[in-house]
Amino acid sequence: MTDERSAGVDDLRARLRAVASRVGEAARLADRDPAGIRTIVVTKFHPASLVRDLATLGVTDVGENRHQEAQAKALELADLDLSWHFIGQLQSKKARQVRAYADAIHSIDRAALVDALRSDETSIDCFVQVNLTDDPGRGGVAPDELEGLVEHVLATPGLRLLGLMAVAPLDEPARPAFARVRELSERFVLPMAPEARSLSMGMSHDLEDAVAEGATHLRIGTAITGNRPIAG
Ligand SMILES: *Cc1c(COP(=O)(O)O)cnc(C)c1O
Repeated sequence: MTDERSAGVDDLRARLRAVASRVGEAARLADRDPAGIRTIVVTKFHPASLVRDLATLGVTDVGENRHQEAQAKALELADLDLSWHFIGQLQSKKARQVRAYADAIHSIDRAALVDALRSDETSIDCFVQVNLTDDPGRGGVAPDELEGLVEHVLATPGLRLLGLMAVAPLDEPARPAFARVRELSERFVLPMAPEARSLSMGMSHDLEDAVAEGATHLRIGTAITGNRPIAG
């Protein structure tokens, strides 16, 4: 077992290398250039010090899923040149605060959130999250409402749509689920926004399936950070 409280820099370095080699091998099998696949290290529940260690190892992209925690870390680490990716469910009333420190929001899932993120001054990268399950509590827009939401994002100033985001369902194999995301992108995103080709999908245990189906942004937590400390 890993000692979670003190994942040392050497552990982190070894795990970063192991993940990079998994990504490289998956890219090779899919005949893809690994340079087109960005790894976001998900640091939720871990202290800012771990993020700082990751930065010394060359990590540039970090992911967080809770606003207060993300805001505190981004503030504490403002001296570092990191890109912060917000990947969790987001309340509309917190949207503007998240905009202030996040470089990208992966969890756009409803029109009210899009409206709350509107800005005439600055632009933020975003992904529309698709729900691959029948459980609305899992976050993401239902596939049959995707097209309307994408249109709404494209019509809203201050949002730059990069593509789609999804989390694989727990009760089915990941690969066909990720294939559905790719198909949804081809059907409902690319005809309206040909530049919004990115796919944010793939986590510690299913990154190979995601790369095989075209993921451009992997969100990797435990495979790099070790197990998360138990939330309070
Ligand atoms: C926690 C989380 C991840 C990372 O999961 P791991 O299994 O630890 O790699 C990825 N995406 C989202 C949305 C998450 O909440």
